[in-house]
Amino acid sequence: MSREKAAQHVLDQVERHTQWFNRSIPMIASENLISPMARRLLASDFHDRYAEGHPGKRYYQGLVYIDEVERECRRLALELFRCSWADVRCVSGTEANIAAFAATTKPGDLITAVSTADGGHISHAKFGGAGIRGCAIETYPWDQDAMTIDVAKTVKMIRERKPQLVVFGQSMFLFPTPIQEAAQAAHEVGATVMYDGAHVMGLIAGKRFQDPLREGADFITGSTHKTLPGPQGALILGNFPEGAEEQQGTLARKLDRAVFPGTVSSHHLHHLAAKTVALAEHLDFGEAYADQVIKNAKALAQALHEKGVAVLGEKRGFTQSHQVVVDVKAHGGGSWAAQALEDGGLITNMNMLPGDTSALHPSGLRLGTQEMTRIGMKERDMADVAQFLVDVVIKKEKPAEVSKRVAAFRERFQGIHYCYQDGAPAYKFWKLG
Ligand SMILES: *Cc1c(COP(=O)(O)O)cnc(C)c1O
Repeated sequence: MSREKAAQHVLDQVERHTQWFNRSIPMIASENLISPMARRLLASDFHDRYAEGHPGKRYYQGLVYIDEVERECRRLALELFRCSWADVRCVSGTEANIAAFAATTKPGDLITAVSTADGGHISHAKFGGAGIRGCAIETYPWDQDAMTIDVAKTVKMIRERKPQLVVFGQSMFLFPTPIQEAAQAAHEVGATVMYDGAHVMGLIAGKRFQDPLREGADFITGSTHKTLPGPQGALILGNFPEGAEEQQGTLARKLDRAVFPGTVSSHHLHHLAAKTVALAEHLDFGEAYADQVIKNAKALAQALHEKGVAVLGEKRGFTQSHQVVVDVKAHGGGSWAAQALEDGGLITNMNMLPGDTSALHPSGLRLGTQEMTRIGMKERDMADVAQFLVDVVIKKEKPAEVSKRVAAFRERFQGIHYCYQDGAPAYKFWKLG
C-alpha cells in the first residue's frame, strides 16, 4: 500500500466506524456526543496554535481571539458550576488529577480513595497518578447495599490515618457520595478534600446529582466529555477568591502551577473553543438533559430487573446517576457479554463489581444512558434497549440477528438534542474527495 493509500485507508476506517455507530446503541457510560457547533471548532485553526499562561499574560503572540475565548470559557465554567475559581486548561481528567496530586501532596504522603473494585478510578490507585506521585493509598470501607462509602467507618479511618488528601468520586458511580461528615473529619486532621466528578460533571452542572463544593469538597476535578457533553478535556473548580492563584502559598496557586507549567504545555485550543460552546449549551439545556438522563437510567434499570437481569443497587432504586450496573456472572461473565453485545449492536464495557479481583474477567457490565439521551431516547425506549440486551446475554440469540433489530430501532434516533442545532445528524463524518 502506498503511503497515500494508507492515509486514505484511515479515512475509510473512520467512515466505517461512523456508520457502525449510526446503527448501534451507544451505552458506554464515559462517552458522549459533542454538539455540531463544538465539533466544527475541533477542526478550526485554534488547533494549530499555542497559548501558554493566562489570557493577557502569555508567552506567545497571536492570541487576541484565543484570549477572548479563554476568558469566556472561564466565565461560563464559573456560572455553570456556581463557583468562583476555575482552571479550564486541563486536557483530560487523568491529567487534572495528576496536577491535583502534585498540588496537594508530596511523595510518601497518604491519599485515601475508593478502591477500583468498588468503582474508583485507576488514577486514584497505585498503578495510576496517585501511585506515580509516590503516595501511599488506602481505600475506604464500602457499604455494598448503599453502593457508597461506609460513612461511619470512613470517618473513623480518616481520623486514625490522617491522610494529606481525601479523594471522593468514582467511575462506577450510581449514587451521590455522602461526603459531608467525612470532609469534616478530613479538615479536622488537616487534609485537603478533592471530589473527582469526571463521570457526573454534566449531572452536577444540571443540578441533578450533588453539589460537592457546598458539601465540603475544597475543589473538584472532572472530565468535560462524559455526562458533560463537551470535547475531551477537564476542569478544576473551586471557591477560591478570584485571582487567588497570584497569592503565594494558596491552594489555588498550587493548582495553577501544577497545571502550567506542571502538567500541560499546550492546552489544546480547539478543545478550549469547543469546551466553551459546550458550557454555554449546558447552561441552556443541561437541566432538561440531566433530568432525562437520570429518568432513562432508572427506566433501563427497572426494565432489566423485570426481565430477570441482576441489577446492582436494588435497595436504593438501582441508580440516581446516568449509570446502570448489572451482574452477568451467571450468564457468561462481563468480558463474554460485552463482546456478544458488541456483535449484537450494543456498545458497552465490562466492569469489575465489588468483590471481583480480575479486571480482565469481571462479573459486570456498566451501562450509561447519557448518549442514548442525546439522540432522543426516552423512558419508553429503555424497555426496547433492555430487551435487546436480554436477547443476547440471557436468551443467547445470535448477536448478528439481534443487530438487525437494533439497526432498525436506531433509525428513529439519528438526530442530536440538548444543543443549539437541535436535530442535526448525530454522527457525521465528511470524507475528502
Ligand atoms: C474517566 C475518569 C477519569 C479520567 O478522565 P480522562 O478524561 O479519561 O483522563 C478520572 N476520574 C474518574 C473518576 C473517571 O471516571
